[in-house]
Amino acid sequence: DRLHNNFQFLDVGRQDPNKKAIETRKTEFVEIYQPFSEEQVANQSHRCLECGNPYCEWKCPVHNFIPNWLKLISEGNIFEAAELSHQTNTLPEVCGRVCPQDRLCEGACTLNDGFGAVTIGNAEKYITDTAFAMGWKPDMSSVVWTDKKVAVIGAGPAGLGCADVLVRNGVKPVVFDRYPEIGGLLTFGIPEFKLEKSVLVRRREIFTEMGIEFRLNTEIGKDVSMEELLSEYDAVFMGMGTYNYMKGGFPGEDLPGVYDALPFLVSSVNRNLGFEKNPSDFISVEGKKVVVLGGGDTAMDCNRTSIRQQAESVSCAYRRDEDNMPGSKREVANAREEGVEFLFNRQPIAIVGEDKVEGVKVVTTQLGEADENGRRRPEPIPGSEEILPADLVLIAFGFRPSPEAWFADHSINVNDWGGVEAPEQQAFKFQTSNPKVFAGGDMVRGSDLVVTAIWEGREAAEGILDYLEV
Ligand code: FAD
Ligand code: SF4
Repeated sequence: DRLHNNFQFLDVGRQDPNKKAIETRKTEFVEIYQPFSEEQVANQSHRCLECGNPYCEWKCPVHNFIPNWLKLISEGNIFEAAELSHQTNTLPEVCGRVCPQDRLCEGACTLNDGFGAVTIGNAEKYITDTAFAMGWKPDMSSVVWTDKKVAVIGAGPAGLGCADVLVRNGVKPVVFDRYPEIGGLLTFGIPEFKLEKSVLVRRREIFTEMGIEFRLNTEIGKDVSMEELLSEYDAVFMGMGTYNYMKGGFPGEDLPGVYDALPFLVSSVNRNLGFEKNPSDFISVEGKKVVVLGGGDTAMDCNRTSIRQQAESVSCAYRRDEDNMPGSKREVANAREEGVEFLFNRQPIAIVGEDKVEGVKVVTTQLGEADENGRRRPEPIPGSEEILPADLVLIAFGFRPSPEAWFADHSINVNDWGGVEAPEQQAFKFQTSNPKVFAGGDMVRGSDLVVTAIWEGREAAEGILDYLEV
């Protein structure tokens, strides 16, 4: 039987979960993938070769024990699989949904070489969703409580990762966030068709039961000061994200009808979740010709939100070719299926219009020499300018750190691009220049991924535990 298992990949191919019918999908803000059935997940987990030195584990930023939990689910041990998966990951059901698996765990799977990788992400999502549905909760019975407490600023993946490790080690985390729900960009950024918000609501309940306290609608620096945190808590962790929107630096960016990606996405989430304060905050693209500029995950989310809001047309202009897009290939494929028109090798040089946006002037590019990051630079082809007609333009060029003025008052140093300095390689991991303050996630590494933010939050918690001598 064991021999049979080891060759299962020859009989059973990779199988992705089914997607909802395209016509329904395009109109609703719900996840597009159907959950795996017990049989599907068993078939996929049996395909795992149980490699001696599993590359998937190395490539996964939190180093999940992937072959071990695949084996447990292939044996039907859901609760043990959930317990094991939570030893390395704070939000496995979220990562299973939103990680770009094609360049992480699944990209490194031995079977990816010709046979099709095991669908690791979906198995990870299945374990936690199923375990929760069956009444499983993280086992906190052996936690020995200390008298220490730590303030966590930001309830995004970094802050949650940190709070999770602290509470499991008997240190009380109090998590502050200016938003009305936990999750950071998981709630106020990533749209519902990738990640339904009930996932975070359930998490808030689980975390609260574990002993994490949340103080929402509370901004540090405004409602509560950093002085108060530093005097009341034994340490502070900052996981505040990056919220400066990158600009294109070309004419016309201030024309009415031109919006940054995040306010557009947040206005959509706020309306869907009932958090909208004022109806005029909602940015509607209904019936409009929308042009999205950019090629990352944020651009794909703008594209697909616009489709669901019934835009007349949605085109996405990106300055490199499809192979060089930074966004997840899966999301590019989903956007295309839903009706987004991609215009590759088009660099915007101006947004044009009299008193509101009427179009985007682009120039065609070809890829030249590699830049310092090894990515080939797009070079404009002279004379190739054209105007893409548009009623509304969404700019998704990425984010830069947004350091607060009060950082300097507390000797928290930032580097020359505004990221908080909190190196991993030092006595206390992710400690800032203020010994009592630790930091991680996007505000330290620059905008990146959910799973890397979780990793840094968890590692910073280890640094805090060492610092507190717990
Ligand atoms: P955040 O998630 O930004 O959380 C920071 C939190 O801190 C926020 O809740 C904020 O309100 C709070 N905060 C900030 N300042 C204060 C203050 N002074 N007081 C109180 N609270 C404060 N990654 C993926 O892996 N897969 C994807 O598919 C994906 N899609 C994305 C789509 C979009 C539209 C965007 C914008 C990002 C996407 N990302 C994706 C990236 C990912 O969401 C981020 O890398 C990740 O959320 C960073 O986590 P973080 O905890 O560092 O910060
Ligand atoms: Fe793959 Fe992300 Fe899960 Fe790691 S956390 S196993 S990279 S889906």
